[in-house]
Amino acid sequence: NVTRSKMPKYPGLERWILVEKMGDGAFSNVYRAKDSTTEYGEVAIKVVRKFEMNSNQRANILKEVQIMRNLDHPNIVKLIDFSESRQYYYIILELCPGGELFHQIVRLTYFSENLSRHVILQVAKAIEYLHETSGVVHRDIKPENLLFYPSEFVPSRDPKPKQPGDEEKEDEGEFIAGVGSGGIGTIKLADFGLSKVIWDSQTMTPCGTVGYTAPEIVKDERYSKSVDMWAMGCVLYTLLCGFPPFYDESIQVLTEKVARGQYTFLSPWWDDISKSAQDLISHLLTVDPEKRYTIKEFLEHPWIRESDEETTAAA
Ligand code: ADP
Ligand code: MG
Repeated sequence: NVTRSKMPKYPGLERWILVEKMGDGAFSNVYRAKDSTTEYGEVAIKVVRKFEMNSNQRANILKEVQIMRNLDHPNIVKLIDFSESRQYYYIILELCPGGELFHQIVRLTYFSENLSRHVILQVAKAIEYLHETSGVVHRDIKPENLLFYPSEFVPSRDPKPKQPGDEEKEDEGEFIAGVGSGGIGTIKLADFGLSKVIWDSQTMTPCGTVGYTAPEIVKDERYSKSVDMWAMGCVLYTLLCGFPPFYDESIQVLTEKVARGQYTFLSPWWDDISKSAQDLISHLLTVDPEKRYTIKEFLEHPWIRESDEETTAAA
């Protein structure tokens, strides 16, 4: 078995059979793996190279795991287990076989309004749970961190090794079929590496004693939640037209554009996208965080509340 023999071996990870690499980051590789016992089917394992990290970076990994441990929502990737060896951290995660939403945007160029709503509503449910129930701000919402579980994906107990190139194409066909039949499946928010807890998870109150919290702290919390709402605006914009609201070759110019909230609904790409969708995006891409929509306001917007049937009827 060519694929399997190429997989690295990690001490302490003998229970899991690594199948293929699914992604990587600055300090980590993410693998698809299956359980050698039968307790779990397939999982994703984030192998973090502890030996390349300083103590601050290590503490951040432990924080990421600690935050995930307390989360339980259908639209958030579940933490299954965590362990470590001398050199590595092993974060065992619920597998999202569809991979990144990012690749689906690249593949389909852009999403219809109905498909975009289907996707962003699931992201919003995850954010609502984080902001309103868990007191967590994600702070890194982007298409690379939005994974999905395809609607008609049948998890295999014995996944076949992939030949470079050809088998990937077959999988793509299946996922596109899934997109066409009225959905992309379940969207799951991943990567809590930059997340922060802003509420005391025990008492469900803002950190510090209730009633004694200084206004700037209360304000701070509202501000930190609003960063996720801005990012959701960027994701929704990108889903609908296929390119991001803010872009420039020069980082300096890009930063300036973001700071001023300088974006447009560029013609001809936005000509046929509803004014209602544009209105919702403009309430998310609002520079003043006090005026920006909260997750509650987002969920009450007419474009979000519209059903697929109504859109079809109106078209
Ligand atoms: P980083 O902090 O390095 O960005 P992530 O947790 O975002 O780490 O993981 C990096 C990439 O690995 C993701 O963008 C995705 O492609 C893949 N990945 C991570 N978790 C999973 C998972 N549970 N299922 C499938 N792919 C995953
Ligand atoms: Mg990531």
